[in-house]
Amino acid sequence: MQESLQSCVFHNGWLGELERRVFGRERNQNDPEELRFGITRERCISTLAPPLEGAQWGGIVTRMATRAFEEGLVEGVVTLHHAPDSNFFSTPVLAMTRGDIMASRGNKPVLSPLLRSLDSAYRQGLQSLLVIGAGCHIHMLRDFHDRYPYLRDMDITTIGIPCVDNIDRSNFNRVLSRISRSPATACHMEFMQDFRIHIRHTDGSVEKVPFFSLPEELSDPGIFPRACLSCFDYLNSLSDITVGYLAAEFSPDDKKQWILVRTQKGAALLDLVRQELDCSKETGSWDCSSFVRKTAPQTVEQMKPGKTEYSPDRKIPLWLGHLMAGMLNLIGPKGIGFARYSTDYHTIRHYCYVKYHQPDLFDTLVPDYAKAIVREYGIDEHC
Ligand SMILES: Cc1cc2nc3c(=O)[nH]c(=O)nc-3n(C[C@H](O)[C@H](O)[C@H](O)COP(=O)(O)OP(=O)(O)OC[C@H]3O[C@@H](n4cnc5c(N)ncnc54)[C@H](O)[C@@H]3O)c2cc1C
Repeated sequence: MQESLQSCVFHNGWLGELERRVFGRERNQNDPEELRFGITRERCISTLAPPLEGAQWGGIVTRMATRAFEEGLVEGVVTLHHAPDSNFFSTPVLAMTRGDIMASRGNKPVLSPLLRSLDSAYRQGLQSLLVIGAGCHIHMLRDFHDRYPYLRDMDITTIGIPCVDNIDRSNFNRVLSRISRSPATACHMEFMQDFRIHIRHTDGSVEKVPFFSLPEELSDPGIFPRACLSCFDYLNSLSDITVGYLAAEFSPDDKKQWILVRTQKGAALLDLVRQELDCSKETGSWDCSSFVRKTAPQTVEQMKPGKTEYSPDRKIPLWLGHLMAGMLNLIGPKGIGFARYSTDYHTIRHYCYVKYHQPDLFDTLVPDYAKAIVREYGIDEHC
């Protein structure tokens, strides 16, 4: 227990030395893309054909994991299954059959003790392992792997998912009930690039709730776990390969995903599925700074301590929220610009959160790259 706490980001901070250990250098802060997305050797937009039924989006993560297992690259996969009787909660697993790997697909938008299964892998003497996790998991794993002898002989490959706004289990049902018209039938939820939350229900219908129409209550920083609001690795930059959808322009018909290959091992994973992917270059315009500047003052304000009363009513009616989301889909940032917008927005939000709510941890938690982004927008003068 003490050993794993030693490897926690609250103890070691984000990136910095760990990034140097993985890549031999830290990200180049003069390269605006690397500053935000981390070190990569290849980035692309890809669609898995056919998409994997039941996956969170296109299913590239699960397909890669399955292929790595089938090819004997790894003996087991540290991942999550859905908890029994829950569409959203998770149970950590060490998947050692194709069926168990397939069953790990899909999102579990709650804090998850994923790395517990490392212990099973160690006890079973596995020599090669794939770990699929969020940025905090991969940070802890990288440090633990280097710091202690347990896993030193194990060859570990990692697939990272982008992750933000995870929810504590104890709070999940309350949050879902504030977002969805029918929380009891909701079986899948995702914050998408069209400025809406998509909630799929058990009858197959998809409810869309514009971000702008969420209740004010959900702007309360107390809703989200402290760890997630102190996160500075949205894009999982210590993984061998990150698979998300952030920079893929939204299209409901083909489930485009965004792949960021970071290491040689990540390239080997991508090669295993390349023939099943329709790959293309990133699209969209990079500049979204005026959009970030417009939303930043409100973001800073929301993170300020002191406010205790939050209205349970929607900030604006659904119809108006849809109108705004529709407009932003036309004139707002898209593709790579949306990925930059979302990264900058969350960096600013988390910078202010740590500054206001955990000032004693500011120097440990906030990496240089985040300070550089915040400087670009002159945020420090306002918070
Ligand atoms: C809370 C949360 C927020 C996210 N926000 C974004 C975002 O803003 N932008 C973006 O591009 N992507 C985001 N993602 C990642 C996204 O949901 C998909 O996982 C990713 O795009 C891969 O899709 P897929 O269809 O290939 O995944 P699948 O093939 O379905 O595989 C998903 C893998 O992720 C694992 N997983 C699911 N939930 C968790 C969890 N809580 N902790 C650790 N592992 C988990 C699953 O067990 C599975 O192995 C988020 C994920 C989470 C959990």
